Amino acid sequence: MKVTFWGARGSIPAPMGQDELREKLKAALLGAVGVDLTDRAAVDEYIARLPQWIASTAGGNTTCMEVRADQTLLILDCGSGMRLLGNALMREAFGKGQGEAHILISHTHWDHIQGFVFFAPAYVRGNKLHFYSPFPDLSTRFEDQQREIYFPVAMDYMSATRTWTVLDPNEAFQINDVKVELMLLSHPGGAYAYRLTHQGKVLVYATDGEYQRMDAEHTARYVDFFRDADLLIFDAQYSFEQVIDEKRDWGHSTPKMGAELAFRARCKRLALTHHDPLATDERLWNAVAEAYNYLAFRSRGSGQSLETEVILAQEGRTVEL
Ligand SMILES: [Zn+2]
Ligand SMILES: [Zn+2]
Repeated sequence: MKVTFWGARGSIPAPMGQDELREKLKAALLGAVGVDLTDRAAVDEYIARLPQWIASTAGGNTTCMEVRADQTLLILDCGSGMRLLGNALMREAFGKGQGEAHILISHTHWDHIQGFVFFAPAYVRGNKLHFYSPFPDLSTRFEDQQREIYFPVAMDYMSATRTWTVLDPNEAFQINDVKVELMLLSHPGGAYAYRLTHQGKVLVYATDGEYQRMDAEHTARYVDFFRDADLLIFDAQYSFEQVIDEKRDWGHSTPKMGAELAFRARCKRLALTHHDPLATDERLWNAVAEAYNYLAFRSRGSGQSLETEVILAQEGRTVEL
């Protein structure tokens, strides 16, 4: 399986502001002492050496992930990043009305559905879009988003065919040769995590979840669901301090909790996602370091040798499982 992050922000799209851009420029220039800035190759080499928070960005689009399992295309959630995915898909079969996608929806908060109205393949006759979620009224929720008081184009106008499958959260099912399992997370209104298995590789997408108690009893079902994942994509919106303090019951989690659950479930890779709209790239990369430090501390304490790699979900980044 191959996963591409098209949107990794939580709650609302959050484009980079002037202040953050200026900080990046300043840090890059201050660090360039001794670099021959008239030499393009030297500048390229310098940029390649820069810390990630300066030279790259997590991006500002809300959550949308593309998963390729051989010929099967799955899409996890329809946040604003879906617009970019749609533009890329238009260059292949979807541009000719010959595309087929399976769209799994965690829940219907704005940041998980708002990109669909700008998903170009939905407007091309012949394309097939299959939606899945445990919400029996999912199609109505999507239609409501396109009522004329919210958006000028009604869903009826979209000429791709759409099917809506209501899932039983307790039943595994197949999409071609991908096995799909799901689990309810603790989140206002409910959100579902998905576990995809294809040719022995496991991807877990678990965003919009809160873990109020981290003891073994209360986390057992999560650890089971995340078990041995090759990649766990995990909601790490807030810092530990924020969750303890003002963000309790907001339905989101932290990098350290992700690290703890990934450790117990022996996940090979942990991708932090659903980034706080207020978080700068510097803060997000610090969160990656924090999760790494926590994992190092945990494995020292337990003697468990597994090394979990921590990555940041960044727009445009592809991870192969
Ligand atoms: Zn969300
Ligand atoms: Zn939500």
